[in-house]
Amino acid sequence: MAPPAPTNKPGSLLSPSHYDDDASSIHSERSDQDTDSEDDEVLMGARTSADIRAHDRNVLLEEEERDKLLEESRRRGRRGSALVMPAPLKKLFSKSFTELPMAGSSEQEEIPAEKSSDKRKRRRERRSKRKERLMDEASHGEDGELMYEMEEGGMKEGSATGSSSDNEGSDEIDRRGLRILHDEKSQRRRRWRTWLFIHSLIAVGFSILVLVAWKLSLHRKSAVPIQTMLSNGTALFAPTTILISLDGFRADFLNRGITPRLNAFIKEGVSPVYMNPSFPSVTFPNHYTLVTGLYPESHGIVGNTFWDMELKEEFYYTNPSAMQSKWWGGEPLWVTAENQGIRTAIHMWPGSEAHIMAIEPAFLDAYNGAEPLSNKVNRIMQLLDMPGRENEVAEVQDMRPQLIAAYVPNVDGDGHLYGPNSTEIRVTINDVDNMLDHVFQGLEQRNLTNIVNVVVVSDHGMATTDVTRLIQLEDLVDTNLIEHTDGWPLYGLRPKDPAQVQSMYDGLVEKAATNPNLDVYLRDVNMPERYHFSKNERIAPLWIVPKTGWAIVTKDEFDVVEGKEKGLVYHPRGLHGYDHEHPLMRAIFVARGPAFPHAPNSRVEPFQNTEVYNIVCDSLGLVPKPNNGTLRLPLKPIGLHSPDTALEDPNDPPTSTPTPSPTPSPSATSEEEAADAVISISPIEASSAADSNEIPPHMVGVDPIDDTNVDRPVVPDESEMTQEEKDFWEWFKAKLDGLKGWFGELLSGDKDAETGERR
Ligand SMILES: [Zn+2]
Repeated sequence: MAPPAPTNKPGSLLSPSHYDDDASSIHSERSDQDTDSEDDEVLMGARTSADIRAHDRNVLLEEEERDKLLEESRRRGRRGSALVMPAPLKKLFSKSFTELPMAGSSEQEEIPAEKSSDKRKRRRERRSKRKERLMDEASHGEDGELMYEMEEGGMKEGSATGSSSDNEGSDEIDRRGLRILHDEKSQRRRRWRTWLFIHSLIAVGFSILVLVAWKLSLHRKSAVPIQTMLSNGTALFAPTTILISLDGFRADFLNRGITPRLNAFIKEGVSPVYMNPSFPSVTFPNHYTLVTGLYPESHGIVGNTFWDMELKEEFYYTNPSAMQSKWWGGEPLWVTAENQGIRTAIHMWPGSEAHIMAIEPAFLDAYNGAEPLSNKVNRIMQLLDMPGRENEVAEVQDMRPQLIAAYVPNVDGDGHLYGPNSTEIRVTINDVDNMLDHVFQGLEQRNLTNIVNVVVVSDHGMATTDVTRLIQLEDLVDTNLIEHTDGWPLYGLRPKDPAQVQSMYDGLVEKAATNPNLDVYLRDVNMPERYHFSKNERIAPLWIVPKTGWAIVTKDEFDVVEGKEKGLVYHPRGLHGYDHEHPLMRAIFVARGPAFPHAPNSRVEPFQNTEVYNIVCDSLGLVPKPNNGTLRLPLKPIGLHSPDTALEDPNDPPTSTPTPSPTPSPSATSEEEAADAVISISPIEASSAADSNEIPPHMVGVDPIDDTNVDRPVVPDESEMTQEEKDFWEWFKAKLDGLKGWFGELLSGDKDAETGERR
């Protein structure tokens, strides 16, 4: 369309007057000249009737134009004052409103209202007369088409060329003028529509923004998956799972007759005969695998200790710097849950204090190796007694978590300190079983047995060590060439000169040829596929993996020849970290609850602990993150547990070829004779990388006060006892627990100081 002619128009469309009361002043100015006498002059001087028609049309259109503008400006004047608009929006999109000259309004006030209304009236009359005249003429064929077009509010294409005109003279000019005016009108209409459209768009956009913001603010609530609520009679429970890890609880400990509650739990629930840990079978990698479903090579916690080449820093699990999120890859259960609106309570789980992904559990209990087992039970019950989602008056921070994960270090501690076959560990295993009994009793008292899922796992087993199963590191490699040793009790070697990896490996292979008790692997060449232990730069390029029950020691830590001669006892007396599929490294998994609707005593095929993450996620209705696990709920039992399917006790000490040795192995009697000479050796303590304040890996969770001051009774197999003996035993244990509690309180001050330093 042709742009409006800049001259003789009551202000172009871009002029502020179109949006302001100023327009009225223009109008009133012109209207002073716009009199009937003027009309008459024109009529008198008209050359032809066409001229008169043209004049009429012009005046009519101009007047219509002006009145419309005036009307609009009045309307806008009113609206401008009443319109409530957010300030930024006003500034952005209503510039014409705010930047208009203010003079117009005062001018308008000067015109007496009576006078102007009178004028308007007269004008209207005049206009209707002219319109009548034009319409009359048009109906007689003279400007019919044009009128049609005017009434329709749009120009026909053909008419733009002027072909419909019967007059090439002034009529054509008139038409053009009309067209221009008409164009202006339609353009203004379009602009109005555009203005309306833009503002609607802004309104819609703004609404969407508000909606999104509102949605985001509700994110945590709206992300909660649809969950079935179960009632225990007093409260409603959304899916709730208690995950308990018994560190170092070897699968065949269940065969010893000292775990009545765990054995009953198996009969109530679903379980494999054992669960395989992941390689290397040590605490931190495996606890993190349990809650991520990832192999250690995938989540990056490739050992309790390891060197990171990029960070140029050592991860040392008891060092406070290990609790930095930079070490921890993957997404742990508590992050998955919290991100999906499920509250979690994490009690001392390895890694839970590392601020992983900057998402904290709703409840986080820091590690305390001296925490009495009864406190753990009380804590779990306290969490379960919190108000649920149905409680509308409860504060969010007080609300019950749906995932409770608790870590129990006790069995592992005794396994290292006394060995997995010690009488001491029997007491601790029984204590832990007793703790579980209290948990189940607490659930029963709350009518939650069929409402809350319970999953009991362990991270690895334990193998007995002995002075006859030691390998002197100096006999294998030139230790001066090594810069870092990772992963104890395995040895991950990083030579000072990376080019020496191959020659070091070749030398080790030669040694291994005469010593069947160790395996040597290059991370990138022949690391067994089933270990899933190669795809991470944190894994050292060269590894010595001793056979289960064997330990590699430096001379600083333990001189093997001297130890054998003197009949010294090697400590730790129990070790793990070996081939994760070795029977002595086997862990446990037992589950019960509404998420496990299987026949009681159901048995599933053994699986690896990479499956636990998926299983716990499913039990809570969470969407798990991609991981190395493949099992999903419900589990697929292959039958029931029976004596035929029971796990065979593995050989511990493991049967293996003794190292060719110049000195005879010390007998049991010589070990007893040398009791005074017993030394506690920690390989890490003595290593160059270790901090003197750090405790060795095998010491985590070990309470030395308990061990040195409390005489541990021997726990007989309860299955072999008569009822009378059992009753006496229960009474005796109760008395002993009381004594321990009293003694523990007496010493708690010292304990706290000590444990605070540990982690
Ligand atoms: Zn462990």
